[in-house]
Amino acid sequence: MAEGAGVTDDILDQARGQVLEDGRGLDTRQVLRCLQLPDERLGDLLSLAHEVRVRWCGPEVEVEGIVSVKTGGCPEDCHFCSQSGRFESPVRSVWLDIAELVAAARETAATGATEFCIVAAVRGPDERLMAQVGAAVRAITAEVAVNVACSLGILTADQAAELAALGVHRYNHNLETARSYFGHVVTTHGWEDRYATCELISAAGMELCCGGIIGMGETVQQRAELAAELASLGPDEVPLNFLNPRPGTPLGDRPLVAGPEALRTIAAFRLALPRTVLRYAGGRELTLGDLGTEAGMLGGINAIIVGNYLTTLGRPAHQDLDMLNRLQMPIKALSATL
Ligand code: SF4
Repeated sequence: MAEGAGVTDDILDQARGQVLEDGRGLDTRQVLRCLQLPDERLGDLLSLAHEVRVRWCGPEVEVEGIVSVKTGGCPEDCHFCSQSGRFESPVRSVWLDIAELVAAARETAATGATEFCIVAAVRGPDERLMAQVGAAVRAITAEVAVNVACSLGILTADQAAELAALGVHRYNHNLETARSYFGHVVTTHGWEDRYATCELISAAGMELCCGGIIGMGETVQQRAELAAELASLGPDEVPLNFLNPRPGTPLGDRPLVAGPEALRTIAAFRLALPRTVLRYAGGRELTLGDLGTEAGMLGGINAIIVGNYLTTLGRPAHQDLDMLNRLQMPIKALSATL
């Protein structure tokens, strides 16, 4: 540690005062310094991120289940996504009906989850999808004790207001990657379109869930940029994905993010976003394995998705629930989130 006249230039000492004690997240430059810490400091970084999470979010872990109302056949060209209709990925277009969605919500709630997110592979919702989701949200709300969230792509202000009026309490729309890298992974819509939808979500009164994917070829500088861009939106939740390269997509040959790099990213994002629900989303099993997953839970993560993801298999819900038990981390109760 380098210290002089009471001022330290060690990034973890700075973060201890600024983030842990004062609750102010790290800026781009500071996040970058965390991302550049050597492996020997990884343990210290993770411990500090865990302290920050417990101090500003508490010990609970938020559990969520997701279901896809419409899978595959998306007109957009997000290079990481096997649901795009533009690539040779083996995901076929499928629609679920209301009874299937209610059954999935019931199954999710039975795991102890408080969040149930309805997802559709679309650029944005059309009338048919809005009607289907509206009917599903009403049916689920009437029959299952769970918070309903949606992820239906780019919204208009009217659609955001309609979903808020239905009682959708959280809406997911990811920035995916840093503004400066976005054009390398998506060409059919812009980063600005995504940012604008995120602003509409908050303006409509829904909680904002907004995250990204690590490992798409972005630099560490761009990871730090993404953390700051996310923080500028004040999201209630940030889902952190690690690229799971899907065969047939333009990113299908990319290497996995190395475990220590993934853990450094988790901890650095926690230090940028001290009060946010920071959720493990796709790719963690592949990137981190069981031991790494636990290290992330002790390094800033405070939310998980149980069961299967949209296009890839996760691990069985009981394995994650057993892990929380082992780590003595209580599952966040519904009453605390409503
Ligand atoms: S990420 Fe979403 S918008 Fe992009 S191709 Fe996949 S389903 Fe479509």
